[in-house]
Amino acid sequence: MSKDMGKGMDKYDIIVVGGGNAALTSAITAAEKGKRVILLERAPKEFRGGNSKFTRSIRYVHETPDQYTTKEYTEEDFLKDIIEVTGGQTNIELSKYIVKRSAELPKWMEKHKVKLKRAVRGAFHYSGTNAFILGGGGQLIKTYYEYAEKIGVKVIYNATVKDFIAKNEKIDGVVAEINGKREIINGEAIIVASGGFEANLEWLKQYLGDAVDNIIVRGVKYNDGIPLRALYKLGAAPPDTVKNPKDAHWTAVDARAPKFNGGFVTRIDLIPIGIVVNKKGERIYDEGEDLWIKRYVLWGRLILEQPEQIAYVIIDSSMLGDSLIPMYSPIKANSIKDLSHALGVNEDNLISTISRFNQSIPKNCHYDLSELDDCGTINLYPPKSHWAKPLLHSPFYAWPLRPGITFTYMGVKVGLDMRVIRTNGKAFDNVFAAGELTVGNIFGRGYLGGTGLVIGSIIGITAGEVASEYV
Ligand SMILES: Cc1cc2nc3c(=O)[nH]c(=O)nc-3n(C[C@H](O)[C@H](O)[C@H](O)COP(=O)(O)OP(=O)(O)OC[C@H]3O[C@@H](n4cnc5c(N)ncnc54)[C@H](O)[C@@H]3O)c2cc1C
Repeated sequence: MSKDMGKGMDKYDIIVVGGGNAALTSAITAAEKGKRVILLERAPKEFRGGNSKFTRSIRYVHETPDQYTTKEYTEEDFLKDIIEVTGGQTNIELSKYIVKRSAELPKWMEKHKVKLKRAVRGAFHYSGTNAFILGGGGQLIKTYYEYAEKIGVKVIYNATVKDFIAKNEKIDGVVAEINGKREIINGEAIIVASGGFEANLEWLKQYLGDAVDNIIVRGVKYNDGIPLRALYKLGAAPPDTVKNPKDAHWTAVDARAPKFNGGFVTRIDLIPIGIVVNKKGERIYDEGEDLWIKRYVLWGRLILEQPEQIAYVIIDSSMLGDSLIPMYSPIKANSIKDLSHALGVNEDNLISTISRFNQSIPKNCHYDLSELDDCGTINLYPPKSHWAKPLLHSPFYAWPLRPGITFTYMGVKVGLDMRVIRTNGKAFDNVFAAGELTVGNIFGRGYLGGTGLVIGSIIGITAGEVASEYV
């Protein structure tokens, strides 16, 4: 152990691996219970916080509308939504637990100095269910680090955990590279909160093949799954809710976004307003199937299956300004024909697709983006079930879309006490997991906006509580 890490603390009660929301909530919980906690963050201080620093909102149960939301959102509503978007691929007991405890999260966050606010205008379909973080994820992370250090959590940056030291059903410590030097750190319990493996293109290639060249990793490069691999090596089981490793949190992002680290601003939320076509000029799915917050994650996965993994969202000038303004400028043309040339999309197909779409919209419907309106197409396949509005007014605008991976679902299986479960069905005594590593237990597929932070926090807090009881 290095001199810096010695100082009479050569063995910690709890080692937390990772430095995002899940790591911080578990570290804070354990430190508040009087435990000696060390947190190992791979990133340097200036890039700390993982994908959590890009976040905006949390979804939580509120039995009546509160100061942040416009409607009630009950345990029953939340659970129903999880079951619907996952098609039942969820650990129902764990889901119930998280849903129930989500009600306490805003207060927990506020107690730890994070401020919340109401949904921003133009962020589709969040206002009834989600509170937004004042200052976003960047502020959340800064606030939690300050809090954690104030209550005695030892934070080490540039600390990449490479492996675990295991004996029987326990892990005694971690092998880490800290500022380029190999170190061994011992602890009574380990909480692994190091994110998924979404930034590991080689690993993803096993499931995606060459399509991996056309995807965009929305978050940090640090989440390449080294600790996850090490846990698998020790016999950790993936969640049995995840049937296909390709199932991950995928969203449509602007094709011009950087390969890594683009964050929230590259996401395109125009899909419920317009139509989406592929390279052949054909629509690919119902753009208005349900509230956007329940469907945005479907779109990255759909684009992944398209030729060359590219698609285009198209709107007309009457729709401009109806959503949050995307970061990249649109491709603009005065006619559909010119637009098809600008995009390199089949001209005849695009003209015919848009003409059939326009003709399928009922004349007297009431267009309303704030709810599931009655403007659904008639006799069109694929349908657009809500918010169908003819594209008539030039100029026309398009944004090119790529599949953006946010995080992987294939992590580790956990029990209700957040202990990691092995392939033999038994849990490790002293190994816990939290955050993206565990989201697949709730979402074997599909997703609901604002749940990554909630799952990470509730599992993180619980892991901190149970690990503290254990040591
Ligand atoms: C652009 C974007 C926007 C999002 N918006 C929202 C939102 O509004 N609401 C929401 O609920 N969710 C949102 N999410 C999802 C959310 O970020 C995650 O679900 C959640 O933050 C994950 O927390 P985590 O702590 O598990 O992972 P992360 O925050 O990614 O943290 C993982 C940490 O582990 C560290 N690490 C990785 N490997 C190692 C290693 N070998 N050794 C040591 N440390 C390691 C990383 O450096 C990082 O600090 C968003 C994600 C992205 C990318």
